[in-house]
This record gives sequence, structure tokens and C-alpha cells, in this order.
Amino acid sequence: MDEISLEVSKRRDRGRVADYIPALARVDPSQFGLAVFTTDGQLFSSGDAHVAFSIQSISKVFSLTMALGSIGDSLWRRVGREPSGNSFNSIVLLEHEKGIPRNPFINPGALVVTDVLLSSLAPRETIGEILQFMRVLSGSEQILVDPGVASAEKATGFRNIAHANFLKSCGNLLSPPEHVLGVYFHQCAIAMDCTQLARAGGFLAAAGRNPTTGLSVVSAEKARCINSLMMTCGHYDGSGDFAFRVGLPSKSGVGGGILAVVPGVASVVAWSPGLNTQGNSALGIAALEMLARRMNWSVF
Ligand code: GLN
Repeated sequence: MDEISLEVSKRRDRGRVADYIPALARVDPSQFGLAVFTTDGQLFSSGDAHVAFSIQSISKVFSLTMALGSIGDSLWRRVGREPSGNSFNSIVLLEHEKGIPRNPFINPGALVVTDVLLSSLAPRETIGEILQFMRVLSGSEQILVDPGVASAEKATGFRNIAHANFLKSCGNLLSPPEHVLGVYFHQCAIAMDCTQLARAGGFLAAAGRNPTTGLSVVSAEKARCINSLMMTCGHYDGSGDFAFRVGLPSKSGVGGGILAVVPGVASVVAWSPGLNTQGNSALGIAALEMLARRMNWSVF
């Protein structure tokens, strides 16, 4: 892992830091962190693995886990399971498909998932539940929502607002759009470091059980389903290329983090803020490609 950190730190093709909100635009692009959490509970880290970053769309994995735990397979009446071939915030498919988002990882799909979580709770409590879930999974009480990121997401989130209103018009949001958006913006604004996020994702590598506590988070079957969606849809229109280069279920976020799963072996987080044109961490992908190759971790 140290060799990979050293190698990627020399690379020039670092991509561009997300600049749609100041809190992300000012993140130092030279940072790189890597953490591996094994299914037998060992944690390894390298580089800036203890620097917190905005988890952004990686939160969609955890909100999906909670929604599946709450309503099970009936979720699939409201969200599809196919890759979109479009960017995370593309609007074009949603009207064609009559308000049923292609998958839970593009933004409209994640909004429907968040709506499920809101069905029995108020917005503030729902944010609290998501945060508590992340704290329990990572064993870290310090995890917080970055309020500056959450309010900037709200101030600039016009496409997400459009998605939520369109979903509502199709009858695929039960709560008011502003409640769904408020929770979604806060889940995206959760700040975690590579080690915390690798621990939190451990259950996906360990057939649904948290490797630290041994407690079941979801059934082994649901963990397999979530991994399959991460493989096919986790990097938006870059999902095919990621499967080709790395070959692991994984989910990216515009904060530059990537959570990858080596089933039965480990959860891995790579973080570097510079993004490629599809909004996925350029060095994060490069590092995971090197790690998967050296460890022979591709599932293919
Ligand atoms: N907050 C961002 C959005 O909703 C998250 C996108 C992402 O990480 N891909 O647009």
C-alpha cells in the first residue's frame, strides 16, 4: 500500500477537484489516502487515510442498505437495477422511464431511496438515523455532517431539485420534495476518513456481517445484491471501465472517495480529490487498479 501511495503521488494525471461548491473546490488536490479493512478485522492504511473528506455519493450505498432493510424487495417497484450509461445527475432518462430511476446510485434513484427512509420519520430524525448507522458501522462516534457542505448542496442543487419535483409529479416520492432533498443533501455532506469508511463498508465484504462486532447488518443475499449494483452502476457512465480495469464492486463520490469490496476478503477505500470526466477519483481508480492487480483481487 505504501508503494502504491508513493507511486500515485508522482502522477500528474490527477483530474480536477469538484468545484460546484466552495467547500469541495478548496480541498487540496495533492492528497491521497488508502485503507484496507479485512474480514477478520485488521485495518491497514497509508497516506492521508486519516483526513476526513465529503463522502458524497458513497452515502448512497448505506442509504440503500437501510432502505432494503426497511422495505426489502418492494423497493424494486420504485427503482430499477440497470446501469444508466449516463452521468449521475442526468435528467434525460427519467421522463422516458416514467419516473422510475434506472438504479439506486444515480441521483434520482438515491432520492427515491431517501424517500423510503423518510416514510416513517421526520427529516431531522432520518438524518440522525443515517448518521447513527455510519457511526455504528465504523465504530466511530465522531462522524459528523459538514454543515457548510450540506447548505452549499442545497443552495446549488438545482438539478437535484428538478429530479425531486419530477419524481413527485410521477408519484414516485411520498414525502414533500424539500424534505427528501434536505435529507439527501445532508447524507452527501457526511465527512469520514478512509479508515472509517473502510470499516463501515466491511459488512459488504463479509456476507452482511460487520467484521468488528460480528453482528448482521443485512442478509448475505442482500449484501450480494448491493455488491452487484456497485459493480454495474457504482461509477455511473464509468462503471464498465472500472469493472474492466479493477474488477471489484465499488462506489465513488465527487469528494474523491471510492469504496471497493473484495468479497470474502476486505473492504478498501481510496481517496484523492481530483476527478476524471465522469466524476470519479482519477488517482483512486489508478490506485485500486494497482492494488487489485498486485493482490489478484479482481472478481473476474
Ligand atoms: N452531492 C452530489 C450530487 O448530488 C453527489 C454526486 C456524486 O457524488 N456523484 O450531485
